[in-house]
Amino acid sequence: MNNSKKFLIYIIYAMIVSMLFGLILWLGHFKVFQEFITKVEQNSFDLRQSIISKYKKANNDIVILAVDDATYEYIMDKYGSWPISRQIWSETVEGIEIAQPKFIIFDLLFVKPNLNDVKADKSFINTVKNNKNIYLSMNFDNYSDEIRKSKQLDDKLKLHIDKGSLKDNEYITFINSRTVMDELAAVTKNIGIINVTRDSDGIIRNTTPIFKYKGDYYPNLSLAVAIDLLGQDSVSIEDSKIIIDENHIIPLDFTQRAILNWYGKSGTYRHTPLWEVIKAIKDQNTKYLDENFKDKIVYVGTTATSLSDIKSVPTESNMAGVEFHATFLNNILDNNFIKKVSPKIDLLISIILCFIVGYYVLKTPSVPKTIFFLFASLTLYAIAATVIMSKFNLWISVVLPCISIVATFILIYCEKYLMKSKDYEQTYKLAVTDGLTQLYNHRYFQEQMINQVNNFERYGTVFSLILIDIDFFKKFNDTYGHQSGDCVLKQVASILKKNSRTSDIACRYGGEEMSIILTNTNKNEAVITAEKICNTVRNNKFVLANNEKVNVTISVGVATVGLNGTKPQEIIEYSDKCLYKAKESGRNQVVYEV
Ligand code: GH3
Ligand code: MG
Ligand code: MG
Repeated sequence: MNNSKKFLIYIIYAMIVSMLFGLILWLGHFKVFQEFITKVEQNSFDLRQSIISKYKKANNDIVILAVDDATYEYIMDKYGSWPISRQIWSETVEGIEIAQPKFIIFDLLFVKPNLNDVKADKSFINTVKNNKNIYLSMNFDNYSDEIRKSKQLDDKLKLHIDKGSLKDNEYITFINSRTVMDELAAVTKNIGIINVTRDSDGIIRNTTPIFKYKGDYYPNLSLAVAIDLLGQDSVSIEDSKIIIDENHIIPLDFTQRAILNWYGKSGTYRHTPLWEVIKAIKDQNTKYLDENFKDKIVYVGTTATSLSDIKSVPTESNMAGVEFHATFLNNILDNNFIKKVSPKIDLLISIILCFIVGYYVLKTPSVPKTIFFLFASLTLYAIAATVIMSKFNLWISVVLPCISIVATFILIYCEKYLMKSKDYEQTYKLAVTDGLTQLYNHRYFQEQMINQVNNFERYGTVFSLILIDIDFFKKFNDTYGHQSGDCVLKQVASILKKNSRTSDIACRYGGEEMSIILTNTNKNEAVITAEKICNTVRNNKFVLANNEKVNVTISVGVATVGLNGTKPQEIIEYSDKCLYKAKESGRNQVVYEV
């Protein structure tokens, strides 16, 4: 391959890749395309999380006091009522507090007073009042005031933000709330929000750390606990980050939410069933309580399948909601959130990968090698993306780059194929063309004669053959020189081309003899064409190598299939006889009968 051709190929290649990305950017305006890419990308995120979470260690200090299926049976059997009496909660918390846990965090709502058991409510309120390490939860929602009059929340529940603010959006801003009963709210400031937001496929990948309600900010339950645990009383917001202290920073995505990094399937955190704890407290089994709760961060929540606080997360389709909140706290303590790289970087990575793959495919003639390279690069990239997520907590896109790589592969193959067919065309043209006159050569002439005869036999399509010989050409060469002879040959050839249709096949028969196969042409029409050519040559001034102008004449023989023969050889012989007769009869004329 010569250099200019190589250059051309690379130019086309660069154009292909650029056009591909133009196309991708254009498609990016269509919602269907965007949603498709997002959906597949989210699935790839889930897959990566499932793989890397196997190698991650969750915080051992976080445990779950589980209201599980067995507890439901135990409570129904021993107390005969559901939900669990607040008296039981009060006794359980007091029992656990003896083991000195760091926190007891309720992922359960205490919304309304229980008028049938005022004593139990009082007891629970007292417990909360006396233990500053208890955290309660509440919800925000968007019910109108007609349905539930929205409450102004107490100032002490607000999150203190030293500096910065968040961009309002549907994930963080709410207009109504389901808060804890007033008597409880009166005795504690430890109340956090437990709203979750799902992606369109129902899976929870993000959490909202800070909520906005009636113009003020309120902390997520786990954020509130983290701030307390880290000895802070406020946070600041900077460059899409929530800073608790210099070692604990929550990166936010463009929705102002944090992308969680998962530690595995359900059961990441040790579950202690509530019924066992109730029993241990009754039995004053302090060893059991110490083992399970000493210095622990205890999340209290339902894990029973029948109680339906079940979430789908990347690593698991049925994860208890309480584990989701525990994971958020764990991410804060480990500084372990996922950061999604910007779409611009994803695009840049895609472009670079496309150039690498495209270049290799273009350079490598072996098809199996290029296919192997394609699959190897896709696999390696997917592995690299997984390792990067595992090591650096970065979510780089895999779908866009992989689609681009495959598209480049296909387009480069199309380019290769087109180039090849162009090469082939050129080689073929060279093989059938006469170099001096640019007419078809003798071999092509013979091929076409056979074709035309076949057509005649099959469909009865008539064709004619004109055979031309320049008069006294030997003498002409002797007089004016061989070079001038060549000039004349070229000019005669050009007259032949000008006077025949594109469907006609003008050939250099040999030496200074030329021929035209006139397709779809009967004898009469062929003779008219032959006469026209003979006249044109006769009247033409031929320019020689030394610019001298001279006259040349030709003799012409005409034959037609069917009339003068039915085989290529017969037709050629007949026209040759005519030509001979034309020479005999004084040259410079057309003969069509012998
Ligand atoms: P006639 O009128 O009987 O055809 O006389 P002629 O001299 O043309 O005789 P003939 O057709 O047998 O001569 C062929 C000559 O054409 C021989 C050769 O000198 C000349 N010739 C053949 N091919 C070429 C060519 O490629 N270039 C040049 N300059 N001359 C050629
Ligand atoms: Mg001749
Ligand atoms: Mg001649």
